[in-house]
Amino acid sequence: MFYAIFSLRCYITETEMNTGEKMKDYIKIDNLKDCCGCGACVNICPCGAIEMKENEMGFFYPEVDEEKCVGCGQCRKVCVFCEKSVGANGEPLVYAAVTKNKEVLSQSSSGGIFTELAEAVIEKGGAVLGAAWDEDFSLRHICVNDKSNLDKLRGSKYVQSATGDTFKKAEELLKSGQYVCYSGTPCQIAGLKAFLKKGYDNLLTIDLICHGVPSVKMLRDDLAYFAKKKKIDIKDIKFRDKKYGWGVKGSLNGATANVKYNENTSPYYFYFLGGEVYRESCYNCRFPCEGRQGDITLGDYWGIRQELVSKMNGADIENGISCVLVNSDKGKKWLSGIESRLLMCASDRKSVEKRNKQLTGASVPTPEHNRLVKMYKENGYDAFIYGFKKNYKKRAVGFVKSLIPKKIKRKLAQLKG
Ligand SMILES: Cc1cc2nc3c(=O)[nH]c(=O)nc-3n(C[C@H](O)[C@H](O)[C@H](O)COP(=O)(O)OP(=O)(O)OC[C@H]3O[C@@H](n4cnc5c(N)ncnc54)[C@H](O)[C@@H]3O)c2cc1C
Ligand code: SF4
Ligand code: SF4
Ligand code: SF4
Repeated sequence: MFYAIFSLRCYITETEMNTGEKMKDYIKIDNLKDCCGCGACVNICPCGAIEMKENEMGFFYPEVDEEKCVGCGQCRKVCVFCEKSVGANGEPLVYAAVTKNKEVLSQSSSGGIFTELAEAVIEKGGAVLGAAWDEDFSLRHICVNDKSNLDKLRGSKYVQSATGDTFKKAEELLKSGQYVCYSGTPCQIAGLKAFLKKGYDNLLTIDLICHGVPSVKMLRDDLAYFAKKKKIDIKDIKFRDKKYGWGVKGSLNGATANVKYNENTSPYYFYFLGGEVYRESCYNCRFPCEGRQGDITLGDYWGIRQELVSKMNGADIENGISCVLVNSDKGKKWLSGIESRLLMCASDRKSVEKRNKQLTGASVPTPEHNRLVKMYKENGYDAFIYGFKKNYKKRAVGFVKSLIPKKIKRKLAQLKG
């Protein structure tokens, strides 16, 4: 039943018209929920007939140039939101883990496992593809083959990344025999695998636990609001700044000033954490319940139990602990290759799921989401600012909670179970 819904929603034209002329068999998105923007269709088109075009919410969707299209149907077949099965991995092995490298840990969003895996791939002469900021604060996937450039990929950026032509780039490298590590959201990894059509021994895929992504347009609007309000010339964004400890507090850094960036200061961050401004496909995400896409899944081990930490020989919960889901034999091999660089302890999926509901189901759109979409189209970013100010009570509670020391909060959360 679930599969049937997906395949029906993607409207595909393959019928004979009255004239006898055959309509071209290309992908057409009738419902925004049916496209995650992974870019697999763009990468696979042999004619360069597909372009990702921005809609009024700032999300990108494929648009086919009929003149260039030869009707081969490859874009439709590769689509992970249309195809019946995405071939997910089986039950994972689960660990709590953190890097021993304090410098890497301080710059990473959770336990720094991404960097350790990426460095291992580069040490074998490989390349790593992941999300990096552009100068104009758009986010796009890039390819890095030097450890000194890994800082561009490090850290969670809570906005959608454009994959561009990186699926093609990854294929090229894989075919040349190089090791490739591709990291991204589950839908991006599913898109890459669908594009590649076959497995490669030299490919390591890492997906993140993901509840959804807002658009770059929304983020840029927020940055413009901040720049004006705080009179800051923003040069860098950190959604998770470890100087505030392990959590979801970040900073905007300018040439002469830094300001706090979190749910109490930013309408964008407030609505991101509330799950109200995601791409429509995120509310229809098939990946939480269809199994993991990456060889390894990384996330924050929120609510980690003290008894696990005490088995991790000196790990400090305040600096971040990752949950690591090992979903394939290849993932197991790569993780054992970096084991000496980590403090690690076996756990189980249920324990991780307790505070990571994204592992069991997609985000649910709220009435506020529907209001924001309508208002953003009509009034632009003022819709966010208006809602943010109106929700001052919720934010005041958040602010008071933020005054409670982290150690006490974690203790309370653990007691709650
Ligand atoms: C949009 C988003 C939502 C997330 N939601 C959750 C959640 O609900 N629960 C949870 O436990 N963890 C979530 N995570 C994952 C978490 O924030 C960490 O990224 C993860 O634990 C890895 O941390 P790390 O310290 O090993 O590496 P880090 O260095 O912190 O992670 C860097 C990696 O993340 C990738 N990345 C960063 N931003 C993006 C992006 N926008 N799109 C694709 N790839 C990106 C980089 O390419 C790199 O591979 C989310 C991440 C993102 C990007
Ligand atoms: S049907 Fe073929 S040529 Fe036409 S847009 Fe799709 S992939 Fe490109
Ligand atoms: S392949 Fe990806 S970008 Fe293309 S239509 Fe399907 S979900 Fe959208
Ligand atoms: S929630 Fe699902 S559709 Fe949205 S970005 Fe994450 S993996 Fe992709």
